[in-house]
Amino acid sequence: MLNQIKGLHHVTSMASDAQENNDFFTKTLGLRRVKKTVNFDAPDVYHLYYGDETGSAGTVMTYFPFPHIVKGRRGTGEVGETAFAVPQGSLGYWGERLGRVEEETRFGETRLRFEGPDGDGFALVEAPGDSRAPFAGGPVPADHGVHGFRGVTMRLHDAAATAELLKFMGYEETAREGAFTRLVMPGGNGADVIDLEVLPGADRAREGAGSVHHVAFAVENREAQAEVRRALTEAGAHVTPQIDRDYFWAIYFRTPGGVLFEIATNEPGFDRDEDRAHLGEALKLPAQHAHLRDRLEQTLQPITD
Ligand code: ZN
Repeated sequence: MLNQIKGLHHVTSMASDAQENNDFFTKTLGLRRVKKTVNFDAPDVYHLYYGDETGSAGTVMTYFPFPHIVKGRRGTGEVGETAFAVPQGSLGYWGERLGRVEEETRFGETRLRFEGPDGDGFALVEAPGDSRAPFAGGPVPADHGVHGFRGVTMRLHDAAATAELLKFMGYEETAREGAFTRLVMPGGNGADVIDLEVLPGADRAREGAGSVHHVAFAVENREAQAEVRRALTEAGAHVTPQIDRDYFWAIYFRTPGGVLFEIATNEPGFDRDEDRAHLGEALKLPAQHAHLRDRLEQTLQPITD
């Protein structure tokens, strides 16, 4: 069993409109946009990152906004819901702020479920004792602010192989209730909870706007990442080489349940090419796409803050 993974690093989804996406995360949820860059594999599309003050691992929701992309269809083989942790006693505030919410109890916890601009599945869960500081520069008061992720729910046709993989990655199964199996990362970074929801009769999800593209797990550095890569490969996974994403290093592999996993490093972080006071303001391009700047500044949808 591995001990290098410390919970989630980021969750990456698809959106249909960059401005709407930006406004939802910065103005409604009160996160900070910590990076405005492009999809390194398809530079005509933004890659927007939202998180806490510095974009700490376990707080970062990221988006590829593809203009006019059709909505995804929910189903199995995907992350169906991303949950954020908020301070104890703040769900009432959020219910009023968000308007259209649905309350659900899972494993004894109240979850406030709501949708993002493209029907993205989200929830807020009160996390007493979560010491991660919410971003103080947004419109949400600190005593209600988002700490970061609490975790994700994966919708699966069958949970067995994914549960086994997560246990190999260091998660422990803590409870079962109805269709849900809960796994928790002991000693994690706060973004510690994975729920597996089994839906044997459901169709496979079709990726589109509002769908999660992949979920990334956090390791401290490239050395830990190389150890994880070696162990996963020996266990039979087809894992990519270590790829430089400028703000972290990444490896990817498709899991038996259909969800794309990434393992990402906490180093070097989002302040490697911008001052902390100005994170996310300028369009940052990786060296391999720097020559495209003039064109991209003409073609990417401008974002007004
Ligand atoms: Zn990623």
